[in-house]
Amino acid sequence: MNIETIAARAAHRIDAETGAIVAPIHPSATFERDPDGGFSRGYIYARAGNPTRSHLELALAALEGGADCAAFASGSAATAAVFQSLRPGDRVVAPMDCYHGTAALLRDVFVPWGLQVAFVDAADPDALQAAVRPGDRAVWIETPSNPMLRLTDIRRSAEIARAASALLICDNTWATPMLQRSLELGADIAVHSTTKYLSGHSDTLGGAVVAADNPRASELFADVRRIQGAYGAVPSPFDCWLALRGMRTLHLRMAAHSANAHAVAEYLRAHPRVEAVHYPGLDTHPAYELARAQMKDFGGMLSFQVRGGKARAMEVAAKLRLFTRATSLGGTESLIEHRASVEGPHTRTPDNLLRASVGIENPDDLLADLAQALA
Ligand code: PLP
Repeated sequence: MNIETIAARAAHRIDAETGAIVAPIHPSATFERDPDGGFSRGYIYARAGNPTRSHLELALAALEGGADCAAFASGSAATAAVFQSLRPGDRVVAPMDCYHGTAALLRDVFVPWGLQVAFVDAADPDALQAAVRPGDRAVWIETPSNPMLRLTDIRRSAEIARAASALLICDNTWATPMLQRSLELGADIAVHSTTKYLSGHSDTLGGAVVAADNPRASELFADVRRIQGAYGAVPSPFDCWLALRGMRTLHLRMAAHSANAHAVAEYLRAHPRVEAVHYPGLDTHPAYELARAQMKDFGGMLSFQVRGGKARAMEVAAKLRLFTRATSLGGTESLIEHRASVEGPHTRTPDNLLRASVGIENPDDLLADLAQALA
């Protein structure tokens, strides 16, 4: 099946008892055992697994083209489960430009726990090649990256990781499987914050780990699954259902987000008050050709630097009316954020940078709002 069909039918399952065409939500925390103490219907206790979560996991695995999926209570819980699956002493290569929460998890939790971490400019394949050593356990990439929209070549990274016998793990949150086939391009594991585009309506938190169909990925995934049940950072049935509901329109939303973000990026590029625009769909983006090769479309995220420094950038954010000042991304509504102040003391983000999650409003209204705020 084509990916749009997989998405559109994500919550579709005929209920045997009632004929309902949308799968019900199963809130039950526990499940009846067979008289002999077995569990022939597959479920024992909701931390270990429940039907709504299984449904979401199957849909996400199908959408990403993976062999298996484990759903979590947030993208960060999914990320943590991957690192928890490694062993103290393992070495991981991670990008310098990535979601600040991922870098903080590594720095503040997993380095004290015993992981060795080398942060590298993963968008530069030579730097990545130089950083990865034989015996490394994993190479983590995030593309496009948060918040600088830097691109990492997934195919090339897979070659580098494989040569060192390391797993390639790709945070595919910003592109989604609709725009970027991370596993087909060579990643062993795809990680998602389903909070963002997959759910798509800014009304739920979630995360997922999807494993490719290969023995190395399956081996790590077995540990991820164990950790999911043992630590219990799992999404509620209602959150699973919201993610499934959102996924049904993912293809339509990603097309609209991409078209609107492209229009906004072109507008900002031509604006005299804007110093730089970071959007992979602009032919001036340093990895424009890679974006065209690796992505089906360029997505709804962009960042831009306002001339005049932080004060001027904050002023623009304050004057915007349609772009709401809020963190997060991937909802139908446009959001704007001064990223450096969110990222804290470790930030490398320029302080005149605003990050925009471009929604699916009419683009003329978005451009008019930007025009008045930049005037
Ligand atoms: N990965 C990326 C690329 C993100 O942008 C985010 C959040 O912004 C996360 C992971 C973390 O997701 P969550 O907020 O669902 O924990």
